[in-house]
Amino acid sequence: MQSLEALTRDARALANGEIVLSAPEAEVARQMQICNACRYCEGFCAVFPAMTRRLEFGKADIHFLANLCHNCGACLHACQYAPPHEFAVNVPQAMAQVRGQTYADYAWPPALGALYQRQGLTLSLALAAGLALFLVLAVALKGTLWSAPGGDFYGIFPHNLLVGLFAPVFLFVVFALGMGVHRFWRSITPATSGAPLSAPAAAEATDAVLRLKYLDGGHGDGCHNEDDAYTLARRRLHHLTFYGFLLCFAATSVATLYHYLLGWAAPYDLPSLPKLLGAAGGVMLALGTAGLWRLNLRRHPLHGDAAQKPMDRGFIALLFLTATSGLALWLVRGTPALALLLCLHLGAVMALFATMPYGKFGHGIFRTAALLRHAVEKRQPNPIGLGAD
Ligand code: SF4
Ligand code: SF4
Repeated sequence: MQSLEALTRDARALANGEIVLSAPEAEVARQMQICNACRYCEGFCAVFPAMTRRLEFGKADIHFLANLCHNCGACLHACQYAPPHEFAVNVPQAMAQVRGQTYADYAWPPALGALYQRQGLTLSLALAAGLALFLVLAVALKGTLWSAPGGDFYGIFPHNLLVGLFAPVFLFVVFALGMGVHRFWRSITPATSGAPLSAPAAAEATDAVLRLKYLDGGHGDGCHNEDDAYTLARRRLHHLTFYGFLLCFAATSVATLYHYLLGWAAPYDLPSLPKLLGAAGGVMLALGTAGLWRLNLRRHPLHGDAAQKPMDRGFIALLFLTATSGLALWLVRGTPALALLLCLHLGAVMALFATMPYGKFGHGIFRTAALLRHAVEKRQPNPIGLGAD
């Protein structure tokens, strides 16, 4: 609860037309002032070099830095002022709390930003609704949930019906995510030099995203999970999950081109490209998410924001369910269990897509935007002429 003094300060700032920091934002600003005097962690990640270009931390600076932080934990385990020290510096936790707030603040439409705060409930309802939709449709179309018409998915749900259901959701997701990151970009651009994006900056940020550079601890040995030991597991499991997801998406895209451009109807068998991409992507996604789940359960309690655990775990679980139900479809294609499993898979995919703009998926998009702005800003002269770039 805010103290009377803090409330009075906020009221005065509001009356003067100044922008008031939320409690988590004020905590990041406090810790950054300490770090700016210490600078021990300068080589760990992009946050500290970006911090040294500032003497004061406004709302946009804090939103930018919070999304630049990869929650690697390195600065917590290195910090002489971490709890139980009275300074109580815990940068990963303070950044994570603001990060969660930024997802809600920049969400589009703004009214749906509240879904971030109830991620466990949001994901459960979305999954239940997705499952119910396909179960009811299967019964309405086939009269049973126990059938496998020639092993053909479209024998259960016609192709055009699936396109009619998924295409609007997909377009909405792309639009909502695009609007959210556009609002974030507009907010942090003036605070990060205001300079436009250049090709070298874009190339550097893309490299950092694709390699997950800032999960290497700045020395290549990795980041932290349950203790102060370095591990590359988080980085590798994120890579498995990310590239597995991309391969699954590529499989669906190639299958769409086959259908509409070449007139080749599904199902596609090995060694067709959609099958190869889908199988490799599904296995990578299942392994990556299983590993991330295990790491999440063992994560050090001082890392990150405990209130966001349901969002993290719900997203990992939904990705795992999508991957494993997709792979299982391959195994049961010739059996009557196909219809039921197809309902489960499509329900999971629908829930995953529908909640993408209001869940953990956003962290990759916002972090990419912050890395792009960091790559732009570091190419500009240091406005305070102190510290190292
Ligand atoms: S996290 Fe601690 S050790 Fe690192 S720069 Fe900040 S105050 Fe210094
Ligand atoms: S947790 Fe890692 S990425 Fe975040 S500020 Fe600390 S060192 Fe940088």
